[in-house]
Amino acid sequence: MTKPDALHELSTLLGQRLSTSKFELEAHGRSESYFPTTLADAVAFPDSTEEVSEIVKICGRHGLPVIGWGAGTSLEGHALAKQGGVIVDFRNMNQIYDLHAEDMSVTVQPGITREALNEELRATGLFFPVDPGANATIGGMASTRASGTTTVRYGTMRDNVMALEVVMPDGRIVRTGSHAKKSAAGFDLTALMIGAEGTLGLITELTLKLQGQPEAVGAAVCAFDNISDAVATVIETIQFGLPMARIEFIDAATAAAVNAYSGSDLPLTPHLLVEFHGSEAALAEQAEVFGGILAEHGGKGFDWATAPEDRKALWHARHHAYWAILNSRPGCRAVVTDLCVPISRLAEAVEATRADIDQSGLQGPILGHVGDGNFHAILMIDPEKPEELDRAKELSDRMVKRALFMGGTVTGEHGVGYGKLAYMPMEHGEGWDVMAQIKAALDPLNIMNPGKVVRFGE
Ligand SMILES: Cc1cc2nc3c(=O)[nH]c(=O)nc-3n(C[C@H](O)[C@H](O)[C@H](O)COP(=O)(O)OP(=O)(O)OC[C@H]3O[C@@H](n4cnc5c(N)ncnc54)[C@H](O)[C@@H]3O)c2cc1C
Repeated sequence: MTKPDALHELSTLLGQRLSTSKFELEAHGRSESYFPTTLADAVAFPDSTEEVSEIVKICGRHGLPVIGWGAGTSLEGHALAKQGGVIVDFRNMNQIYDLHAEDMSVTVQPGITREALNEELRATGLFFPVDPGANATIGGMASTRASGTTTVRYGTMRDNVMALEVVMPDGRIVRTGSHAKKSAAGFDLTALMIGAEGTLGLITELTLKLQGQPEAVGAAVCAFDNISDAVATVIETIQFGLPMARIEFIDAATAAAVNAYSGSDLPLTPHLLVEFHGSEAALAEQAEVFGGILAEHGGKGFDWATAPEDRKALWHARHHAYWAILNSRPGCRAVVTDLCVPISRLAEAVEATRADIDQSGLQGPILGHVGDGNFHAILMIDPEKPEELDRAKELSDRMVKRALFMGGTVTGEHGVGYGKLAYMPMEHGEGWDVMAQIKAALDPLNIMNPGKVVRFGE
């Protein structure tokens, strides 16, 4: 049995929905980050769970890798077909099945994007809170255990997925979890699949927890003279237990890029972007406490934006900060670093990173979900200058090792892909071997997104 046999069988199953065109292979061979284009053998566009199961069975029989694809926005080469094989693009599986407003849950197919889902939910008074900067798919977000600006209040994908349907590496269709709020029934297979990056199975359905749209929302931008005052404000706010819905940091370089891209006029200093959710009374109380903490640390310009269009503009600018930064140096690519430290070490970690970037001679604005201790430096490199990529990788290496030294993690939200693979034994020790044993037990042929997250069978 050979690769052409496998592709013939897949083509019989899917017809036009199996593509080997240069256009599709290239579109699914690129990453948002600096990784080189990597071509798969084919791209499949299944319409149903049963088709996904058949694809996996065919690939299993022929030993061909199977790689899930959502919106392709992951940043560590997660969805690149490093060993060839078939990319399974979930764009056609984008339906909302069941909305249980009374249980505040919804069941969806994996290809729906977070923005499309929230658009559909708008009239119900409910929303799905997890919001990575890109308009990712719910399946991709579950697979990378994504989080975003609201995680400080509502948690990550791990906290917001109740149940899954998964096509296992042998083609079995398995259901995990339940629609109940909690369960003590055996191993938590839902948690195992969340963050597995498609190495243990393909997610074909998800039941998500929803939140009620808050009665009142207030957002504000505040400027600081320096990074340490901004970060000290975050640490004190979190330690105080103030229920922030969002608390985001951008440094002066990010503010400059955002101004140029979004037409805002932020002062060229570090900023916090904050949001509160609750009743009018709760909001007023929280704003007063936060205003007090802010004043102690020299924060300025704490202006409320309660009008929905002002808040939308604010978070639109934050969610587009990555493209604003890329736009500030036309033609550049980015090495996007991602680390997370305990909140008590946040100031030290951000300042050490800023000093390190300044010494390197690279441009690297810093921004992040600092309420969780999570931040990024967007290291801009000229793709024609390999020495810049080397310097950026060295910087990133020092950043993640610093995070580990501080008791943190090498990735707060982006995940491992193959870009962070080398750090897994440093972070997990023997625990990484246990991950490989789980992979070997579930996917002995190593067909599910091989070469990512764990090392096995290579
Ligand atoms: C500008 C920008 C900002 C970002 N901000 C954030 C952020 O704030 N927080 C954050 O967490 N991330 C962020 N990211 C990274 C990215 O958006 C997330 O990792 C996101 O969860 C990826 O979703 P996707 O649909 O694009 O998945 P893809 O990139 O298509 O795939 C991601 C991984 O999931 C696997 N996969 C996809 N679908 C399935 C499925 N149905 N079953 C099994 N495996 C599957 C793929 O094989 C791959 O390993 C950002 C990226 C960009 C470009």
